[in-house]
Amino acid sequence: MKLASFTDQGATRVAAVEEDRVLPLDYPDMTSLIERFGEIGAKLKSAVPLPLGQIHLTAPIPSPRRNIICVGKNYRDHAREFSQSGFEAGAIAGREIDQFPAVFTKLPTSVTGPGATVSLHSHVTSSVDYEAELAIVIGKAGRDIPRQNAFDYIFGYTIINDVTARDRQKNHKQWFLGKTLDGFCPMGPWITTADEVDAENLDIRCWVNGDLRQSANTRDLIFDIPTLVSTISAGTTLLPGDIIATGTPAGVGIGFDPPKFLLSGDTVSVSITGLGELSNVFR
Ligand code: MG
Repeated sequence: MKLASFTDQGATRVAAVEEDRVLPLDYPDMTSLIERFGEIGAKLKSAVPLPLGQIHLTAPIPSPRRNIICVGKNYRDHAREFSQSGFEAGAIAGREIDQFPAVFTKLPTSVTGPGATVSLHSHVTSSVDYEAELAIVIGKAGRDIPRQNAFDYIFGYTIINDVTARDRQKNHKQWFLGKTLDGFCPMGPWITTADEVDAENLDIRCWVNGDLRQSANTRDLIFDIPTLVSTISAGTTLLPGDIIATGTPAGVGIGFDPPKFLLSGDTVSVSITGLGELSNVFR
């Protein structure tokens, strides 16, 4: 099932997406839908369809209650291009493959939706880059989740563009300030429930103005999905609606010499098998 959020006369609503129509559902928001997913059958029966083309999609979780949890350097070829780019800060700079996953967060205010225009914040940064990523949506609360049970805690998957200001990522040592600018977390176009997704074998692609920049498969993750869920939940409770972005493959702007940073008017489109396409213009 595909589940989206959309705006309707100033309010944000949730809906199931079925081909070219949506079925609005009587939940207050996506987190409530995830927590009370068992009620969806009855709600679908009473839903009145709307044409998909006539609604305005937002991020599926437009106002997450907690930060987006992100994993860095999680594809070998990208770890190499990042280490060689000169934009990595800190004591581990230059080491291609880390012993433990690098985990950081983006504030909820960084989230924006499919089709939204993203500010380049050109008064703050001159090195905005794209990162196409598979994102996990947590379905039930859990702490100390064992690897073998990790998929039991996953509700579904969506696409994230982990937009990054490379200069701020480098200059401030911690990546946070380079990652969390308003609008730097495009998400969507919807959540696809886990039963429809073979998350460890998905093609992930990213285009800038139609030019294919990233093309990989999630089977190439260095730290796989069970490892990420197990590592992040160790001593820390994950909650329904929490989002974990799993890292980006090679082909980001700093992988080129000279780097190809985003310019005003550029369109970045990310597609992942079965999850749809997420497109945003940068200005
Ligand atoms: Mg990333």
